[in-house]
Amino acid sequence: MRLFAGLLARNRLALVGAVVLAAVAVLALLVPVLPVRAPNVTDTAARYLRPLSEGHLLGTDHLGRDLLSRLLWGTRLSLAVGFAAAVIAAVIGAALGIVAGYFGGRTDNLIMRGVDMLMAFPYILLALAIVAALGPGLLNALIAVAAVNVPFFARNIRGITVGIANREFVDAARLAGMGHWRIIWSEILPNVVPVIVIAMSTTIGWMILETAGLSFLGLGSQPPQADLGSMLGEARAALITAPHTSVVPGVMILIIVMSINLLGDGVRDALDPRLRSGALSRPMAATRVARDTVPEPQGDGILTLQALETQFHVGGRVYRAVNKVSLSVHPGECLGIIGESGSGKSVTALSVMGLVASPPGVITGGAARYRGDDLIGAPYETLRSLRGDRIAYIFQDPLATLHPLYRVGDQLAEAIRVHHPLGRAEAWARAVALLHSVRIPNPESRAKAYPHEMSGGMRQRVGIAMALANDPDVIIADEPTTALDVTVQAQILSLLDELRRARGLAIIFITHDFGVVAQLCDRVAVMYAGRIVEEGPTGVLLESPAHPYTRRLIDCVPELGAGRRRLAAIPGLPPAVDQLPPGCAFAPRCGRKQPACEAGEIGLEGSGARRVRCLYPEVEEP
Ligand code: ADP
Ligand code: MG
Repeated sequence: MRLFAGLLARNRLALVGAVVLAAVAVLALLVPVLPVRAPNVTDTAARYLRPLSEGHLLGTDHLGRDLLSRLLWGTRLSLAVGFAAAVIAAVIGAALGIVAGYFGGRTDNLIMRGVDMLMAFPYILLALAIVAALGPGLLNALIAVAAVNVPFFARNIRGITVGIANREFVDAARLAGMGHWRIIWSEILPNVVPVIVIAMSTTIGWMILETAGLSFLGLGSQPPQADLGSMLGEARAALITAPHTSVVPGVMILIIVMSINLLGDGVRDALDPRLRSGALSRPMAATRVARDTVPEPQGDGILTLQALETQFHVGGRVYRAVNKVSLSVHPGECLGIIGESGSGKSVTALSVMGLVASPPGVITGGAARYRGDDLIGAPYETLRSLRGDRIAYIFQDPLATLHPLYRVGDQLAEAIRVHHPLGRAEAWARAVALLHSVRIPNPESRAKAYPHEMSGGMRQRVGIAMALANDPDVIIADEPTTALDVTVQAQILSLLDELRRARGLAIIFITHDFGVVAQLCDRVAVMYAGRIVEEGPTGVLLESPAHPYTRRLIDCVPELGAGRRRLAAIPGLPPAVDQLPPGCAFAPRCGRKQPACEAGEIGLEGSGARRVRCLYPEVEEP
């Protein structure tokens, strides 16, 4: 709730809307005690007085009634009717929508076809027909406006409910033996209330307008009772001679509807979780780059990162997710990046191709060179032509990265055709060959399967096939086996190993599992809090880790057949990357800490491939 209020307050327009609306509402509430004249007392001697006349601040109308008083009473009535109509429409519509969406099947059909019938009539005509049937009057106008808005709510809420009704937590509630109504009340309703509020806040202004429209036509409030619509209707005859009688209620309608809409948009933005996370605030095509200097080219790797720095700028905070990371891979080589969750492995991988979402991501320094050419800040077209073609990614969850509605063969064919002008049949044949190469049995028929028809291991093979689709030079695999069980993991690893030997692939393999590293990688880099703390050939590093963090990480891994020993957990938590300590980031958790560790920057020192960022390493000569 505090978050909601905070977000709303940050939206300036919504704040203006809220203040104006609150002022109008307070005035409307206080009319009975305000010192204004009675709204319905006529005085034919004082007809059409101009605004600012003596005793009549806003002038008088065709019967000499005080416009200010009528305006305030009319506003009160219009607001009340509009609000009541919105609440009624929301309650009835949401109830219908929830019941239809939750029970589905015949109930759904029956309710939604009824709603469709209501929707088949033009909106205003339907309202007119209802009022015509019920007879003119404010209450009937309210009923009509509420009724024509029910379908809008019913459809919206049904859609949301259908999505929720089959989710795991609802199944869990069913398994726990809860009844339907209890589930609707405790599981479904809390999830749809924000949507109901959003829908209400964006339609209430519209409903006030509709009620005013009906009153304007003489079907709403009846004389002498004033609402904003009927005031406009009565002023019509004197539009030219006494324009102020129309302008006064017209301006009030404008103010009310504008402020409600501004506020409604603000409420929607603050309540909608997708907008809150910034998902709809259109990320840029490639990560924003803001660096002062470009490092000179160095080394002969096919892909080389040089002091790469990626940060997230959120509010006033700076999260240093990747902090001067330098790495390099050669063709046919596999480099492992290992570290706890949150240590910056994924952000490093995504930075290479400018795939970190901006905002909030910014690449603030360093370079990523593919065959010597810097990819950071390269034109979007260059990046696009390399993405998936020369440098390909494999992600953790293939169910999330494969399109659920296309057959996997089509998705593979598409990945090929994005970069190569192949015909449909050719691309399909290549897709089947790819599935074969990742050892999917019976690839001709499996190519026609949808992602949900495959097992997790199969899907990950499809993910690998997709990464191989254009015969890339580099594959960046971000925890590709974390979601799989151990036997499937072993198969996938040996597959990757074989592929890199056969095709001379360079692989950057991200994981948090030393077992996987030992099986696949030639070299390893250990990341902690956005930095590389140790790097070296896999065998040496596993045998004699130099950094206390690496040592502790290795100690956490159980070994089969190694006899009994204590598996030591690392005490404490990694630091938040928006407030890193000045010295070694691991110092607060380190058993070998000395005062110097926390004094200042510590470099990544060492010779050749073996480097460590520690003043007091575990082994003398790393
Ligand atoms: P992992 O090593 O588990 O792959 P990540 O690279 O995903 O870790 O994340 C590295 C750091 O970047 C984490 O500390 C995380 O909090 C931070 N981070 C990631 N995305 C964002 C974001 N959109 N806004 C702020 N911080 C982020
Ligand atoms: Mg990750």
